[in-house]
Amino acid sequence: MLDILLVEDSQFFGSIVRNRLVSDVPARVVWARSVREAVEAMNDESYNFFLAILDLHLPDGMDGQVVEQVSARGLPFVVLTSSSDDDTWDSIWARRPVDYVLKEGAQAIDYLVDLVFRLSINDRVAVLVVDDSAIARLKLCQLLEVQRYRVLQACNGAEALQLLRQHSDVRIMIVDYHMPGMDGLELIRRVRQSHHRKDLAIVGISAHGSGHTSARFLKSGANDYLHKPFITEELYCRVAENVRALDYIRKLDALATQDYLTGLKNRRYFFDVGQKLCANAQRRNLGVGVALLDIDFFKKINDTYGHDGGDAVLRTLSAALASRFRDSDVVARIGGEEFAILTTNMSPGRAFPVFDELRRNLQATKTDFGEHRIMVSVSIGVCTGPEGSLEELLKRADELLYQAKEGGRNRVVCDCGAEGPSHDGGPDATPH
Ligand code: GH3
Ligand code: MG
Ligand code: MG
Repeated sequence: MLDILLVEDSQFFGSIVRNRLVSDVPARVVWARSVREAVEAMNDESYNFFLAILDLHLPDGMDGQVVEQVSARGLPFVVLTSSSDDDTWDSIWARRPVDYVLKEGAQAIDYLVDLVFRLSINDRVAVLVVDDSAIARLKLCQLLEVQRYRVLQACNGAEALQLLRQHSDVRIMIVDYHMPGMDGLELIRRVRQSHHRKDLAIVGISAHGSGHTSARFLKSGANDYLHKPFITEELYCRVAENVRALDYIRKLDALATQDYLTGLKNRRYFFDVGQKLCANAQRRNLGVGVALLDIDFFKKINDTYGHDGGDAVLRTLSAALASRFRDSDVVARIGGEEFAILTTNMSPGRAFPVFDELRRNLQATKTDFGEHRIMVSVSIGVCTGPEGSLEELLKRADELLYQAKEGGRNRVVCDCGAEGPSHDGGPDATPH
């Protein structure tokens, strides 16, 4: 749980902010009403504050004295202010806050809560700063670190390309235009050969040039542009907007490829990615296994416990399935109670033991549903490549699954020799 120090003397504003942070972030909020109380809280070692939210007008410090106390301890802070003239803002930014929030209406609270939430997860966002000027680079890096981004830096294009190769998690790259050797535009063009806009956002930056510079950056593959000198606030807004856009695209991507009920990959993903994996494995002559898994007598589960009970079983089994395979394998729900698994690099001799162990594990998996503990068995058809397209492998797996059902259910039938009807318990869809 995150500890946040809120310093605010207004009972009304303070209580709204505290409640929203507690419920929405969520955070543990220590609320101080004065500079003295803020200092006491910071001296209390039972708290580990990650952020302070500061009203600048307090009964024992009417002019932002609390900022000195907080800065002296190196604690990042957000400023709450009600004045909106440029002079006040400049003096606020001079104190290097993470951001400020204008206390105007309900939107201010929404903005603050969203900001705090982002700050709590920004350390997962890696930002690469590419600039040949050490001073400019340092300034940018420091500003980004204040917002808790994980910052990497490169002093030229070649170094940037190398860092991108080493750190596949970089999500934002800020690129200067004029650099010796490869300029910013050329760097962006090269990066775009391997990094799609939906995975890496690029912000161009330049002091020189006309209005054409921003257009040239965008045409080279940048998502956004900042003109130097920029104000801190604009940098923060643009970076945050780009992170938000990437998050949004990721969510949409996940929705399009995920099964809503179980969180496994969906049918569409299985066919899209499966075809590529299969083709790739065949080129490299690696083993591919395709398994079709179907729950036995699932209709009876629905009839006994209702549809919700059936859904609960699907979720439990899916979680158990997902945890048994590597990230490089594809586990998908391709129909109501039917699942497909594509494994790469598995030797045919391993296929039967792996899937038979899975079958036994699933048979032992219990689903808690109200006062019931539901257990089911599964039948699995497994066929091993590398010959054949995904469709052909699936068709064969489907025939083998049919044999498993015909043979009495709760068994694995594999095309790779180790036939495996097993009779440790028999088909089991009876309520427990
Ligand atoms: P078998 O052993 O031959 O596979 O028998 P079965 O009862 O499992 O197969 P059948 O195809 O007759 O029935 C499958 C049932 O799965 C029927 C359908 O209502 C149910 N089902 C399909 N999708 C869902 C779902 O999303 N949730 C729930 N709860 N049930 C589903
Ligand atoms: Mg006040
Ligand atoms: Mg079934």
